[in-house]
Amino acid sequence: MLTSTFLFSLAFAAPPAPSPAAKPPARLLVVTVTKGYRHESIPDLDTLVADLGRETGAFEVDEARTDEELLARTAPDALAGYGGIVLASTTGDLPVADREALLRWVEAGHALIGLHAATDTFHGFPPFLDLIGGEFARHGPQAKVHVIVGDPAHPATRTLEAAFDVFDEIYQFKRFDPARVHVLLGLDAHPETGAPGTFPLAWTREAGRGRVFYTALGHRPDVIATPWYRQHVRGGILWALRRE
Ligand SMILES: [Zn+2]
Repeated sequence: MLTSTFLFSLAFAAPPAPSPAAKPPARLLVVTVTKGYRHESIPDLDTLVADLGRETGAFEVDEARTDEELLARTAPDALAGYGGIVLASTTGDLPVADREALLRWVEAGHALIGLHAATDTFHGFPPFLDLIGGEFARHGPQAKVHVIVGDPAHPATRTLEAAFDVFDEIYQFKRFDPARVHVLLGLDAHPETGAPGTFPLAWTREAGRGRVFYTALGHRPDVIATPWYRQHVRGGILWALRRE
């Protein structure tokens, strides 16, 4: 009797567990500038990230949609106000204020989140490709692939089926070293030929004190609109921001 009364009082005395929203939201800079191919699905990615910020209360988004906005918001003083940056299908050599400083900023403890064409960015700046963990090499025709979850415990994949089919544009990479990343999603067959192999589609990296999350999926609006993609990106962002 005494024990149960004691436990009962303890249960009432325990303070409520802090919710993610208890911390002030992080500020996330969402970049949609392109210098190469421009995806029609960029607004879908942009809307998804903003929705996830509202849904979780963990972050608020600020946008860099033009060269001018990108220059201003990546100036070192401005970057200091952000918890992370999202490259939403960016392409080409982006006009950031100082690309070396941007990399140092990530490594100092900030988040780099890359969606789809983010690895088709800064081809002329290898330190960025090493930071994000791979460089877009090519893709074939859009295809249905059987995606395998590499880590069922990670926030970006723990809500997904162990393996599932996706019809999307499937990237293949160069400058990719599995020893430098933690693979979250991949294929065990070539997306065009079906030949056995290992083909990564999403991964994370620790870079200094910073965190990198990249997913190659998200070319097609109907993929971006699925609940599983939403959960995947939500978990990836929260993990990279250390808010999961
Ligand atoms: Zn694409």
